[in-house]
Amino acid sequence: MKKQILTTSDGASYPILTGSGLLDTCGAEIAALTKPCRVMIVSDTNVAPLYLDRVKKSLADAGFIVNTHVVSAGEESKSIAVFGALLESFAEAHLTRTDLAIALGGGVIGDLTGFAAGCYLRGIRFVQMPTTLLSAVDASVGGKTAINLQHGKNLAGVFHQPLAVFCDVDSLHTLTPHEMADGAAEAIKTGILGDPELFAIYESGNPIANLEEVISHAVAYKSKIVTEDPQEHGVRKLLNLGHTAAHAIERLSDFKISHGHAVAIGTAIVTRAAVKHGMLDSNESARILDTIKRNNLPVHCPYSAKDMAKIAALDKKAAASDITVILPEKIGRCRMEKMPISNVESLFSDGLEGQE
Ligand code: NAD
Repeated sequence: MKKQILTTSDGASYPILTGSGLLDTCGAEIAALTKPCRVMIVSDTNVAPLYLDRVKKSLADAGFIVNTHVVSAGEESKSIAVFGALLESFAEAHLTRTDLAIALGGGVIGDLTGFAAGCYLRGIRFVQMPTTLLSAVDASVGGKTAINLQHGKNLAGVFHQPLAVFCDVDSLHTLTPHEMADGAAEAIKTGILGDPELFAIYESGNPIANLEEVISHAVAYKSKIVTEDPQEHGVRKLLNLGHTAAHAIERLSDFKISHGHAVAIGTAIVTRAAVKHGMLDSNESARILDTIKRNNLPVHCPYSAKDMAKIAALDKKAAASDITVILPEKIGRCRMEKMPISNVESLFSDGLEGQE
């Protein structure tokens, strides 16, 4: 079992536990952090049949009054309608300011539950229990929560740090290879940003056999960044490597291309563009592209630079007429580049040039 602590500059501090068996011991772990109270476990239709009963039992045994709310699996659940129904469910269960929501699932459940917890009664506490690799290495840590609007992804949300994060690595074994690859995309991203050792696990090691190590590397990097910049005013923007294109790709595919696969394509785009702009060595670029492919992820983008740029202009990260794009300089170091939104199409064009 690995225990890491995230402390943010605005005062939040919480434990992130990664290891075997946490689904069964979470009740006792949470009881060590808060007095017994009402809890609402939020999960989805894929995860609930696999793991909900064990979490319910563990919490009930530890003295919590347990309620559950299960939503349809998939990105569509990050919607105003599902969010509204979840808030009503909190009220129906009489949750008060001292009660707790628990997100048992992937990034969709974490984002939805975190946002509802952040809004209900102007904010109640919540616990993240990530059951996808993507959520364990990225989404569950750092307090970003959101749902999607018709106009774009993650356009409504709050920063709301969890009380704790518990990742039972055993729960990751029921993920499909496609979902494992989704998580690999965010872990490889982290490696490129600032952890060459993590990148090496995906370049030449055996990540599936070393999930605890992968997760603790990714959590350590993300914690470092979030500690410094919890509200994404500066350095936290680095975590958006590949994401400007990725969000456009997800929307253009009508969410048929998953977040992790879109991040892989987006990372490939900025990698090629960085070479074209003389910032990245072609040898490092080849290593990045090969590592993405080696982990069953795509590097080819099926959309035009023009279509992606149109969507990027609506992206919430476009502050006024400028956008911050992250470009790799070497494996383990990236730079933030603020540019007029009108330049993004040309950047994407550079990143699509010569793609396989
Ligand atoms: P997801 O939550 O949709 O999970 C992917 C699929 O796996 C779903 O069908 C789910 O039901 C299923 N699943 C989950 N756990 C399972 C398990 N243990 N066994 C079997 N099936 C399981 O998607 P995701 O890839 O985890 O997360 C993507 C979402 O996370 C996107 O909405 C993205 O915007 C968000 N995200 C948020 C942050 C953040 O910082 N808040 C960071 C990255 C991504």
